[in-house]
Amino acid sequence: MKKALIVAPNWIGDALMAQPLFALLKARQPRLQLDVLAPKWVAPVLARMPEITQVFPTELAHGKLQLGARMMFAQQLKGEQYDAAYILPNSLKSALIPWLAGIPLRIGYRGEARWGLLNVRHANPPRKSRPPMVSHYAALGLKPGARLPETLTDPVLKASPQQVGDTATRFGIDHHTRVISFCPGAEYGSAKRWPAEHFAELAQMLRRAYPYTQIIALGSSKDSAIAEEIVNRAPFVRNLCGQTSLDDAIDLLARSEAAVCNDSGLMHVTAALGRPQVAVFGSSDPRHTPPLSPAASIMWLQLECSPCFARECPLGHLNCLKQIGPEMIFVELRKLLQRS
Ligand code: SF4
Repeated sequence: MKKALIVAPNWIGDALMAQPLFALLKARQPRLQLDVLAPKWVAPVLARMPEITQVFPTELAHGKLQLGARMMFAQQLKGEQYDAAYILPNSLKSALIPWLAGIPLRIGYRGEARWGLLNVRHANPPRKSRPPMVSHYAALGLKPGARLPETLTDPVLKASPQQVGDTATRFGIDHHTRVISFCPGAEYGSAKRWPAEHFAELAQMLRRAYPYTQIIALGSSKDSAIAEEIVNRAPFVRNLCGQTSLDDAIDLLARSEAAVCNDSGLMHVTAALGRPQVAVFGSSDPRHTPPLSPAASIMWLQLECSPCFARECPLGHLNCLKQIGPEMIFVELRKLLQRS
């Protein structure tokens, strides 16, 4: 096999958890060219992966068929002469482009009646018995049912010191002082978001312990209101949510001495940059989607009701997150800062 196309997941975190699959494919065939078809909001992350040669960003809307646009992409990809396509999402739509492009091997998990579209089909375990996402994706690199290697490589993103420095300068970051990033968003829902008042109290504790630290909040424009709540209680925190591109946010996380993240795409980005972080889990399960880095410390209470995987707390109290006090995160963060 000389060239393969990856159809990437729609979420940043999932794209990062798929990187060990790319590393596995390259380890088995070092000369294999791996290209990716990815939603434009995920593309910057894939462009920083050393295994990937080309990224084709798409404008396809989540959940829409858009057959005409898919046919156009397929036409464009025909000329690339791919030998295989690895289709990571489970939807029928996601398997259409490789099929329309005439890619001979089309590999993916069974789902949404896409029998004819895939010709190497892996059994899709029910959600409850599914292995960690990283193994779930990596298994596509082997024959269906084959055993995965004992260990998989952790995701790694490229961040050149020059670019990181330039981005930090552009955002007015003082080069001589420590930066701690807060990633207070989680697009999935409030059941994954540590309360803004806890973030603010943590910021006050950090300010007292490390007076010269710059604290910045990173995320999309959708996270800006939450970051503003933090700023209202801790005005020295800079709200950069919605002011950075994803590329900028990656650089600023690479510049950070540590981060505090909800279970979100930026948590996985921080892990792939090897930066120390405390990752806060609420309704989700860190055994399934952990930050893949030895520099990450996980905070999860594992209450009786958890993980419920709900977007909003079905019990209305959100104890899985509210009961994680700011001082608990502070203690973990201090350990990480001492270690680094
Ligand atoms: S039910 Fe439990 S785990 Fe789920 S969101 Fe509420 S407190 Fe968290």
